[in-house]
Amino acid sequence: MKGCLDKIEQQRQCAQYQLQAHEVEGNNDETLRFLRDLYARSRRGEDVWDELSNYQKSRKSGVTGPLIKNAFRRFVGALQGNRCCYCRRWLLNIAHAKPIEHVLPRNSYPQFSLQFWNLAVACFDCNQLKKEAVWGSFLPDLPEYPCATAFTEFFHPRFHPYADHVSFERRETNHVSHVTYTGHTPQGEHLCSELLYIIAARENLYRNNPSLAEAVATLQDFQEQHPEGDLPALEAFRSSLNDSLQCQLDDSGLDEWPLKGPEPETRPSRRHAR
Ligand SMILES: [Zn+2]
Repeated sequence: MKGCLDKIEQQRQCAQYQLQAHEVEGNNDETLRFLRDLYARSRRGEDVWDELSNYQKSRKSGVTGPLIKNAFRRFVGALQGNRCCYCRRWLLNIAHAKPIEHVLPRNSYPQFSLQFWNLAVACFDCNQLKKEAVWGSFLPDLPEYPCATAFTEFFHPRFHPYADHVSFERRETNHVSHVTYTGHTPQGEHLCSELLYIIAARENLYRNNPSLAEAVATLQDFQEQHPEGDLPALEAFRSSLNDSLQCQLDDSGLDEWPLKGPEPETRPSRRHAR
């Protein structure tokens, strides 16, 4: 079915992952046993993500949380062409710069905190922007993970082939760069209006102000070399900078139509974010 991953491809991805759950083949079976135990607990409503992240984390080899997450990033990152699952910018080759994204956020849906299909790889910006936002109307106590075709209200990066739902265009000259995103389906439009318009606006504003672009790139490079939470003052500063930028965008009306789209009853069939 166009616009949605079919069952055969889902089975293929599951089978492939089971062969690559650890970067060292000899550790695959132990990794899968550990993940199955954690998964069984998550299905009872326990958020097991932090336990996974911290599992044997002081060890440099063997079955550890960081290495399991690295293997997952590599596997799903490759499926995504090593681009962010939402904005399609290139993922940097640093673990902290490519957080694992919970499509249905684990705060609201702890029972899916380790669900294979609920996990994708995002860039730092998209992950920060989406945070715990609940998109769609799935009930929090949903017992089973919805099937691919049930995701009609928002873009699901593991189930929806990106190009069927969103296209982007990035133009760059010596002095100017410009990015636009266009949603082609209700799910793609939702992604543009909820997230990509901010990504595009930030990128266009930062990139077209050379001194700001350079300063932000330096801060970002430095931050990405450190685990999340290690640099609270710098994270607070970047957050304030983004808030300040958001105020500028709000003041200039840039988050209004056509950037964000009109109210639903008058919404056109295609929406742009720029
Ligand atoms: Zn992104």
